[in-house]
Amino acid sequence: MKVISDPNQDSLVDRSLAAVWHPCTQMKQHESFPLIAIAKGKGAWLYDEQGNALLDCISSWWTNLFGHSNPRINKAITGQLEKIEHVMLAGFTHAPVVELSEKLSALTNENLGHVFYASDGASAVEIALKMSYHFWQLNGKEKKKRFVCLENGYHGETLGALAVTDVAIFRDAYGALLQDVYTIDSPDARKAKSGQSAEDVAKYAAEKLQQLLEKEHEHIAAIIVEPLVQCAGQMAMYSPIYLRLVRELCDRYQVHLIADEIAVGCGRSGKFFACEHAEIWPDFLTLSKGISGGYLPLSLCMTTDKIYRAFYSDQTRHGFLHSHSYTGNPLACAAALACLEIFEAEKVLEKNLIRAQDLENAFSWAKSDSRISYYRQQGMILAFDVNSEHIKNPSAFAREMFSNGLREGVLIRPIGSTVYVMPPYILSTQETMQMGSSVRNALNKTLI
Ligand SMILES: *Cc1c(COP(=O)(O)O)cnc(C)c1O
Repeated sequence: MKVISDPNQDSLVDRSLAAVWHPCTQMKQHESFPLIAIAKGKGAWLYDEQGNALLDCISSWWTNLFGHSNPRINKAITGQLEKIEHVMLAGFTHAPVVELSEKLSALTNENLGHVFYASDGASAVEIALKMSYHFWQLNGKEKKKRFVCLENGYHGETLGALAVTDVAIFRDAYGALLQDVYTIDSPDARKAKSGQSAEDVAKYAAEKLQQLLEKEHEHIAAIIVEPLVQCAGQMAMYSPIYLRLVRELCDRYQVHLIADEIAVGCGRSGKFFACEHAEIWPDFLTLSKGISGGYLPLSLCMTTDKIYRAFYSDQTRHGFLHSHSYTGNPLACAAALACLEIFEAEKVLEKNLIRAQDLENAFSWAKSDSRISYYRQQGMILAFDVNSEHIKNPSAFAREMFSNGLREGVLIRPIGSTVYVMPPYILSTQETMQMGSSVRNALNKTLI
């Protein structure tokens, strides 16, 4: 293995493999698996160093909403750059963070009127967990210390967020470091037995939660869920009824509801917030990924006036004394504001109804493909599972499919045997059709 690379001789890929430790990667697999150096991006397309074009079907890890190098977002960031690039948010404030907070709060009809900022999704989850626990401490409910999470849920990989995550490949190596949590049945609609509906599965999962809360609510601070789609958990989708039932149970048993909308928020589900499908509001709502249009690291946790007021006190230690160096970064907030402006000016949610229909049309072949099960869609996410008897090597399927996707000019990154697309909200009908047929070609090359 080469340890030192020569910047004059070696390719960018070789130098990267020598010096950069890549995320979510067993680095040794790059001996046979390509690493791609991207030179530029425009719209939904990425271009490698050789000028090959790749259609970004997964929005660069679910972050990019309006394309790469979007003129409007570029302009907002460069405009902000001329004013103030960053200032600490303790003791200071600035227009972008105020305007963004007001706009987001308005999107919840002021139900979640207080916004706390961080830089990455996992940190926003940590904030929700800490605020919930601290709220109960401040209210004389010292025993409320534990969290409930869903089987197959994902909330990030810092130790607090990982504790409420139930995805084995991320969790197993660190299990001994994590706090105990209650992990309950997922409402994953794929669990429906014959004659059962997604609603039946959701009701059953909610009953399980009810049984737990009945017994343990005095020890439970909050339940955390990914509304409607467990994205990292193979895009498992479920009925909005579940959210409504969980909201009722949380009210009945005095437990907070944390809606982690880091992946499903910002229009991905078909509404701006996925919780809107169930007509409920959580006590905490986290956003990241798409909020800055995939431009800059930004995350946030929104909460209610009731929770905010519990921390408002003459005593310093009753405050929420949590911070990140880049909390509320003005450039990231300017990018986020530009995204919210695009949502309004271009009627994005309305047009996404048509885009979601395009998506369904582009993958109509998958509905009747006998090699595929659980074809499913929620707004701008479409997924299906490949039946195991058609997969040569289960542990290599996702990587082979990725590689065959590259040959077809599409960036896809299956999760286990689940193939999904989650494109930016800018594809033309023709690009969407091209995506559907390229994914099909890649699948045909990969399967036996
Ligand atoms: C990606 C994700 C996170 C973690 O966000 P990071 O920015 O990667 O830390 C948390 N929750 C959900 C639902 C996610 O999809």
